[in-house]
Amino acid sequence: MAIPSLSPSLNPLSGRANAANGGVARRQGDAQNPVDMLARDPEIAKALNWIGKNAGWVTEQQIKLTEIPAPKFAEEAKSAAYQKMLEAAGLKIRTDSAGNAIGEREGADSDQVILLAAHLDTVFPEGTPAKVTRKGSRLLGPGIADNGAGLSALLGVAMALNSSKVKTGMTIVFAGDVGEEGEGNLRGIRTLVQEYGKRLQAVIAVDGAAVDYVATQALASKRMEIIVTGPGGHSWTDFGSPNPITALSRAIVQFSTSVEMPITPRSSFNFGVIDGGTSVNSIPNRVTVKVDFRSEDEAEIGRLETALREAVRAGVAGEMAAAKRGTESLQAHYKVIGTRPGGKLAADSVLMKAIQNADDYLGNSSHTQQSSTDANIPLSLGIPAISIGGGGLAGGAHSLEEWYEPENRELGMKRILLAVLEIAGVRK
Ligand SMILES: [Zn+2]
Repeated sequence: MAIPSLSPSLNPLSGRANAANGGVARRQGDAQNPVDMLARDPEIAKALNWIGKNAGWVTEQQIKLTEIPAPKFAEEAKSAAYQKMLEAAGLKIRTDSAGNAIGEREGADSDQVILLAAHLDTVFPEGTPAKVTRKGSRLLGPGIADNGAGLSALLGVAMALNSSKVKTGMTIVFAGDVGEEGEGNLRGIRTLVQEYGKRLQAVIAVDGAAVDYVATQALASKRMEIIVTGPGGHSWTDFGSPNPITALSRAIVQFSTSVEMPITPRSSFNFGVIDGGTSVNSIPNRVTVKVDFRSEDEAEIGRLETALREAVRAGVAGEMAAAKRGTESLQAHYKVIGTRPGGKLAADSVLMKAIQNADDYLGNSSHTQQSSTDANIPLSLGIPAISIGGGGLAGGAHSLEEWYEPENRELGMKRILLAVLEIAGVRK
């Protein structure tokens, strides 16, 4: 995921009055809300009923999925398991060149598709214990919410639809996709969006648990690796030779202390992984650092990158100038390890309306915000897309203390189901 931006966007639709208290009673009788009409359909009522009765089963599937590790570039086992689950939900399953788990529920109009995607991968490296433990009502385990909550919610929605036999206009595609986190560079969703192409009418990325937001704006981001190399040597006999770690440290200090970070557009940088050197008494011949830039405005990322390159150039030059011996120079190289384009959902889009109608019907209160998720790719191409949570409560994402509580998780699934049916259209 998907650590959401702290500042909700100023989308005027986000401030609508649908307080959790009283919203249900007031809105459920509102004949203007198409979701109210939908929910009265006996087949859809059956699907909603399935969700109400099977939240516990969904949580069990969430635990099973979370206990299958899916570090970056190694999502095959979880993809295979998810395909089996989607098949049991009556979907026509397959995989693709990226390794996504795909289940299709055909509609009357097969040239119109709504895609629901939840990422399979986690940020945790290979070997991280995947066992889920319980502490009271709380489930603990790396990936339990991000994205166990999203994957299991999608499965629940597929099962609920299957229990109801409701016929839709659009084809609904359920996907467990690869490569959302870190250096996966969104390769799973890129493949899906490319394949469905013009047929795609809307994309809903289900990521994490929270139901109090709708991410409608995709944060642009760029990830780079900087590599500084040099001659290396012995810490005593070659003392005075230029040191790549020191050069890079100079660059990081210069960048972090001199770059001006604007409040608007909100932007961020992070030096996330540093690696280099061989022993305490060797001058290293190589050091690398991985950097993450994010901004509400893609142009700002270009400015940050230029400032970083300048800081690296100055860091290397400073270290060379300070070197007392050695004629070999330090070299700096750059490698782009990921880019996520930005984009924004139109405030009056059908997708936004559908999720708001579902929220109104369910008495759920949510605000719009920005984040960096699978929705970035469709949004950058002008395809309506949002990212929302699957339901329940969660915390500690991307840490070993990650937790999930299934409290009222039905709400998240009902919200997705109703919004999807409004967009896809119901056929009699
Ligand atoms: Zn996530």
